[in-house]
Amino acid sequence: MDDDAYLPIALRLDDAEALVVGGGGIAANKTKLLLGRCPRILVIARDLNDEMRHWQTAGRIDIIESDATDALLKAHLPRLRLVFAATDDRAVNRRVAELARAHRVPVCVVDDPEPSTFITPAIIDRRPVQIAISTGGAAPVLARRLRTQIETLLPDGLGGLARFMRAQRHWIRTNLPDMMPRKRAWEDFLDGPGMEAALAGETEKAREMLAAAAEHAPRRGEAWLVGAGPGNPDLLTLGALRLMQNADSVLYDQLIPESILDRVRRDAERVFVGKQRSRHTLPQSEINAEMIRRAKAGERVLRLKGGDPFIFGRGGEEMAALTAAGINVRVIPGITAASGCGAAAGIPLTHRDCAQSCIFVTGHARADGTLDLDWPSLARRGQTLAVYMGLTPLARFAENLRAHGLPPDWPAAIIERGTRTDQRVHIGTLSTLAHLIETQGIVSPALTIIGEVVNYRRH
Ligand code: SAH
Repeated sequence: MDDDAYLPIALRLDDAEALVVGGGGIAANKTKLLLGRCPRILVIARDLNDEMRHWQTAGRIDIIESDATDALLKAHLPRLRLVFAATDDRAVNRRVAELARAHRVPVCVVDDPEPSTFITPAIIDRRPVQIAISTGGAAPVLARRLRTQIETLLPDGLGGLARFMRAQRHWIRTNLPDMMPRKRAWEDFLDGPGMEAALAGETEKAREMLAAAAEHAPRRGEAWLVGAGPGNPDLLTLGALRLMQNADSVLYDQLIPESILDRVRRDAERVFVGKQRSRHTLPQSEINAEMIRRAKAGERVLRLKGGDPFIFGRGGEEMAALTAAGINVRVIPGITAASGCGAAAGIPLTHRDCAQSCIFVTGHARADGTLDLDWPSLARRGQTLAVYMGLTPLARFAENLRAHGLPPDWPAAIIERGTRTDQRVHIGTLSTLAHLIETQGIVSPALTIIGEVVNYRRH
């Protein structure tokens, strides 16, 4: 097993007793963690700091002023649910851990993960909302840094919002017994002014908003055509991320890498509808039918597409099929491969000195290998071609450009798996493209940029 395979869980201690061994500052910190979460706290220590004394006087903890002897620990351990060993004596802590483990009581030795059976994460506490950040003990300072960053993102009234939602659960369950519309109503509530009202503590107003969301909760689904960009998760838009977090199901293909799928809501159903030129997994008509079927069943269907859905993505066809079936469609643009690859390879797509326009072009070879394109307009100087196509027809593409007047040494670059961590950039000319593909083992997806902008590459 990995040494970082800790399982984060939220422990319920409302009928439990926990033990803290130690009476100094560190022990007090662990005690503070338990106060308000665990009703009975026993502290065993010979010397106690003021804070501990104060809690004792206030009746919030019990103290046994003694060394943590074996006999003492053995007498109490059978009752205990959790132990913190927090003295400044490593040997004592380890002995406490040993006995706790023997009694199968979870134990955390501060600053000593080895004998511990659990560790405590950095916590953001907006009860009932709590966010725990763990680096598996690898980097506590990093965990605290992350906590600060996340904290700045969270609204002030978060705890109040969660309490409001808890209080309304029964009501909404009665009014919307079906799960899908109920979830929808909550999501609409959270997306709208209702959430702001609840955050601000305006309970009455928030309740009205929730009632309105419940009333309008569409019983029908929707379809979202969302551009996921060229593969690097940094290039997702905020809109794409939000819908990825709200979808009930996600249809995706091989242009979507795992690192992006990881950002889809975990309980959304994932459906691979991959298309590879030679291995059709699902024909387009079936993809459309699948989206329509799901949306009609009330799902919010996310069609996650590489790059931009409206650039060589058949987004137009999908939108037409969906709207014809009466489904509401939303489209979120994405960074298209040309933009992503240009940026990642350091090649501008236009340049005052040499390229006043940029053509995005694709084309499928026919059975006889020919490409049906407007060659005279493609084989012009003063422009850039961003070629979206598989590698097989590319040599023929370059030949055609030469046949229509571009010189053999006209610059070209193939960007393989652009923007991803394993991106490769191959620089050549129209006359060397075929050779590059043959000798470099280039694989899909790859975008070819043709034009003098390639000479302006900086990296
Ligand atoms: N809608 C997509 C294009 C889909 S067509 C977009 O806007 O980007 C598929 C072609 O896009 C591939 O054959 C390849 O030429 C190009 N492509 C997509 N992602 C790419 C990437 N990460 N690197 C290089 N080319 C890519």
